[in-house]
Amino acid sequence: MRNSKTVHIISLGCPKNRVDTERILSTLFDRGYTHSDDPLTARYIIINTCAFIEPAVEESIDAILDVKSEHPDAFVVVAGCLPLRYREDLVDSLPEIDLFLTPDRIHELPDLIAAKTAPDPRGDTIYGASVSGRVLTTPGYAYLKIAEGCSRRCTYCTIPSIRGPLRSYDSEMLAQEAESLASCNVRELVLVAQDLTAYGVEKNEKHSLTNLLKRLEIIQDLRWIRLMYLHPDGIPRSLPELMKNSEKILPYMDIPFQHVSDHVLKSMGRPWKGNRIRKLVDNLRNAIPGLVLRTTFMVGFPTERDEDFQELRDFVQEFRIEHVGVFAYSPEEGTPAFDLGNPIPDQVKNARSSEIQNIHSRFIKRRLKEKVGTTQESIIEGVSSETDLLLQGRTWDQAPEVDGVLYITSGDGIAGEIHKVKITATHGPDLFGEII
Ligand code: SF4
Repeated sequence: MRNSKTVHIISLGCPKNRVDTERILSTLFDRGYTHSDDPLTARYIIINTCAFIEPAVEESIDAILDVKSEHPDAFVVVAGCLPLRYREDLVDSLPEIDLFLTPDRIHELPDLIAAKTAPDPRGDTIYGASVSGRVLTTPGYAYLKIAEGCSRRCTYCTIPSIRGPLRSYDSEMLAQEAESLASCNVRELVLVAQDLTAYGVEKNEKHSLTNLLKRLEIIQDLRWIRLMYLHPDGIPRSLPELMKNSEKILPYMDIPFQHVSDHVLKSMGRPWKGNRIRKLVDNLRNAIPGLVLRTTFMVGFPTERDEDFQELRDFVQEFRIEHVGVFAYSPEEGTPAFDLGNPIPDQVKNARSSEIQNIHSRFIKRRLKEKVGTTQESIIEGVSSETDLLLQGRTWDQAPEVDGVLYITSGDGIAGEIHKVKITATHGPDLFGEII
């Protein structure tokens, strides 16, 4: 039985999309809707999609088709990047979808639904469960999206055409959002954007990112601030000093390098050389003791020769970046790189990807083993998704959703609490520990 004002939401893609999911929920909650974890009881099913690369598009389409076939009587809303990228095509090819929602119209969703359905005789009841325009879906931590869009021109990337140019949110507005999140038991704030480094650049503001961080640091109940998606070009000179001296800004940086070969970087439209990346890593590590880095690499770009891959491989071996993600190149229609074709066979791409992952996992295994017996500040996220018998959390150097987790085998805590945890064992990318 479907409840008339109940919604079930499926959030695909990245943390930026998750923030939009939380905004969608808030908009609906403010108009009397409730959420159900069970799609069978929900009158409305929303799929917040990703369309950054072909596999993400396929995942989104599969999710839509699954929902439509399993819940033919539900009102289905498709939101996010898919309608932004394929607006007209989708209306023609998926006529069974009740509503397409682009991110700029999230606040209109209840009215758009109302216009498509019979008016609800009970009218709209306001009972806010929203936090600063969001309904949190993450335990103890929250993403803070500081900008939309991207004004860089990486030749393989669809984001600027899907999400538009960089638009930075006002720093005071972000600080208020962060205060509101902190008052709702959020202790870790994860700053995200397509390009964190460029925050404020389009307004010709100087030191925007560091000024924002200084403002966020004074929010009393916030304990950790984490930076994700820092573009390597233009990281503020003042950031390492700020990070080094801060009690809240974690010595953790996520900087997607994509490649280190000059030849590949140039054709990727990332106009700096591999040596600048090497120097950047050295400088940051020298400036910030104990710095933990995360990066992503793309293998199989059309211009990647054997010697370019070898250079990337050597970099991974030599620089031992703490957290590494590897993606195989996917040609995306409408991007400049699409015209280069897709000359590297999938088997070669997959083999290169596995080689990088294997080198990295040998290193990470040793690194995690060295943690056994040490004590690490860790955030509690709640009962483990794997078993009700364990609590789950993360050490300070594990970012949510991407870096592995910490299973807590002894001691108690609730989501958002930060405890000292003695690490007792490792398994794959995950850690086990006891609260002390
Ligand atoms: S910086 Fe990131 S989002 Fe912007 S164009 Fe390059 S890959 Fe795309």
